[in-house]
Amino acid sequence: MNGGLFFSLEKGCSVRLKEEILRIKENALRELETAGKREELQDLKVKYLGKKGLLTKVLRGMGSVPADLRPSLGHLANEVRQLLEERLEEKLSAILEQEKKERLVNEAIDVTLPGRPVRRGHRHPLTLILCEIKEIFIAMGFEVAEGPEVETDYYNFEALNIPKGHPARDMQDSFYIGPEILLRTHTSPVQIRTMKRMVPDLPVRIIAPGKVYRRDDDATHSPMFHQVEGLLVDRQCTLGDLKGVLLTFARQMFGRDREIRLRPSFFPFTEPSAEVDISCISCKGSGCRVCSGTGWLEILGCGMVHPNVLVNSGYDPEEVTGFAFGMGVERIAMLKYGINDLRLFFENDVRFIRQFGGGSY
Ligand SMILES: [Zn+2]
Repeated sequence: MNGGLFFSLEKGCSVRLKEEILRIKENALRELETAGKREELQDLKVKYLGKKGLLTKVLRGMGSVPADLRPSLGHLANEVRQLLEERLEEKLSAILEQEKKERLVNEAIDVTLPGRPVRRGHRHPLTLILCEIKEIFIAMGFEVAEGPEVETDYYNFEALNIPKGHPARDMQDSFYIGPEILLRTHTSPVQIRTMKRMVPDLPVRIIAPGKVYRRDDDATHSPMFHQVEGLLVDRQCTLGDLKGVLLTFARQMFGRDREIRLRPSFFPFTEPSAEVDISCISCKGSGCRVCSGTGWLEILGCGMVHPNVLVNSGYDPEEVTGFAFGMGVERIAMLKYGINDLRLFFENDVRFIRQFGGGSY
């Protein structure tokens, strides 16, 4: 009796385990069916097959099953495990496939849509004017020379006949970096540097474009602006040559009917010195608002190279003469394009800059 009861209890236990396994199988398959995301699959895997999963727990309870019934139960449990693993795998593939399809639909590119136009840049008006100035002088045989923007007091002042204490130094408020070092206040130091490099060769015939710096900041002055220096030194170089060169420049830059006039002026590094005016672009000389009624517009300063400057550069003023001129590039651009505020050049507002077209890079 006892034995029989014991046997039937054990048998009952194994039947319950078998039912349990089959119930787990059904539940798992049903839940798998409705799972639509990868995370859900992962959760199901943990729930049924994980270390603490439902099927794993059942297998751990196998110890209470009689030895002769264990193989068939174990076999069933392994079958279920294998089935669930396969279904998980299949489902995962299906989900990945679906995700891929959705991505392809979402990321589809309509190749028939028109592209966004790329706005092409172009040269800055100052660059345009500078190129034009260079072309005009290169055509007359001048070469382009350059010099440092951080200069010594010697090249910026001393060698140009502007000794310490000279009143001309007060005319230019300079940015000093050290007692003898400053940001150049004009491109004239390039005159000295070029002559020292070339002496005793002749002719010296250069233009020197570049940035210069002064303590100014208003509608007509900027702390940084551009100048072009010109220098010609030769055995027979006259004021007439200077005038001819400048008239050629004025007509090429501002129109064939331009006239120029030279008014006496003073610069420490030229003697005699002159300011150069061109006949007004707007009124052609009759007088208007642009030229303040005078009929003339000032464009640059010039003169015959001072003998002291020639001496400082190694040339003999008894044998050679020279002329020099210096112009503000912004000034030329303002006159040519009718711009009334210097600051527009440096604000880089594309609405302003775009107006000058001037060919793309
Ligand atoms: Zn005028």
